Amino acid sequence: MDILIKNGLIITENNDREIFTGNVLIEGNIIKYVGKDIPEHGDVIEINAENKIIMPGFINTHTHIAMSGFKGLLDNMVLNEFLIKTSELDAKRTNEGIYNSSLLGINEMINSGTTSFLDLYYSEDIIEKAVKKTGIRAFLSWATLDEEFTTQKGNPVGNAENFIKSQHPGTVEPMIGVQGIYVSSDENYLKVREVSEKYNVKIHTHLSETRKEVYDFVREKKERPVEHLHKIGFLNKNVIAAHCVWVTLNEIKLLSKSGTKVSWNAISNAKLASGGTAPVPEMLLNNVNVSLGTDSSGSNNSLNMLEEMKFSSLSINNDRWSPAVVKSQEILDMATRNAGIALNKNIGIIKSGYLADIIIINLRNANMIPTTPQNAINNVIFSASPENVEYVIINGEIVKSGGKITNFNADNFMNLNYL
Ligand SMILES: [Zn+2]
Repeated sequence: MDILIKNGLIITENNDREIFTGNVLIEGNIIKYVGKDIPEHGDVIEINAENKIIMPGFINTHTHIAMSGFKGLLDNMVLNEFLIKTSELDAKRTNEGIYNSSLLGINEMINSGTTSFLDLYYSEDIIEKAVKKTGIRAFLSWATLDEEFTTQKGNPVGNAENFIKSQHPGTVEPMIGVQGIYVSSDENYLKVREVSEKYNVKIHTHLSETRKEVYDFVREKKERPVEHLHKIGFLNKNVIAAHCVWVTLNEIKLLSKSGTKVSWNAISNAKLASGGTAPVPEMLLNNVNVSLGTDSSGSNNSLNMLEEMKFSSLSINNDRWSPAVVKSQEILDMATRNAGIALNKNIGIIKSGYLADIIIINLRNANMIPTTPQNAINNVIFSASPENVEYVIINGEIVKSGGKITNFNADNFMNLNYL
């Protein structure tokens, strides 16, 4: 049924970044009206949003959702050890374990107000089943790498192509992924680019995450990863690259020139002690589209975008000795509208004609008082917690209502098969 949300403080995230008290009408899966009047409507579910914020749901642009059951198992280790331990755990997994682990992660995401995620993993066909059960929106990129390094059965690019070719109705959009330069040859990158063009799908990859990975590459190839990937023609507007911590100003300019998008994963980078904060202010100055990702539960260890926004802001501003190098409005843009633009989907803004991916945050809790139009964005970033997220609507469906997830319960999915 259609939904009418009344009398809430709307953070639109539109081009003028308007914030006002008003009403939102959802017809089917589309936002039909946003404004101060009550529009004409048929039968609707009415939600009273007095003393509540109405805003776009968060879009998490880097996850490995099937690793949600790995939380706490990969701590206090550097990326190399982390990857070795991850493949050991991966090798023991069953399809049921991947499915249940994905449900756990999606439960945590919906609970904290995330309405879309961009995933990088193999077995995206199983993850897709979890996505469909929960109603979340997902961009699923099947990870590829050189065959000698993979735990996948069969050829990774062939597997990705088969996944892309299968049917994906509803809220799933297939993509292709690349693990990273430490396990992917030029041939792998170029095949991925070919598949992306053939099926018109986007590409997701890890890029320049750690200093070691970059320096190893420079020693071998005598050029930096972004320079190399630009030279071989891999980088373009369809690529969303996670991390980009160890990039030079010249590489930032190449990211900008090629239209490559960046997913900034501040918590994961700090947890793996990558030893630096991504040069986000320089990316913004050079008009690179930056969005936010949590990375996996192994390297975060949560999938909470409220935490991700807060830590991203604190880490970059502290790093540069200035509390306004990246402003709160820019951080919120990264968690919502920038991600929608990066994914080329009508999400991340509350606007007529856009997909109805909306969250409602209750302001009648001590941690959110006082909230006014002037401080609403700061309060969402620095004070809000998942308990404040009262409603989550994805593709016009209410999936969290009155603070409870409506259509599935993570407690039923405890069999993770590898512990
Ligand atoms: Zn990752």
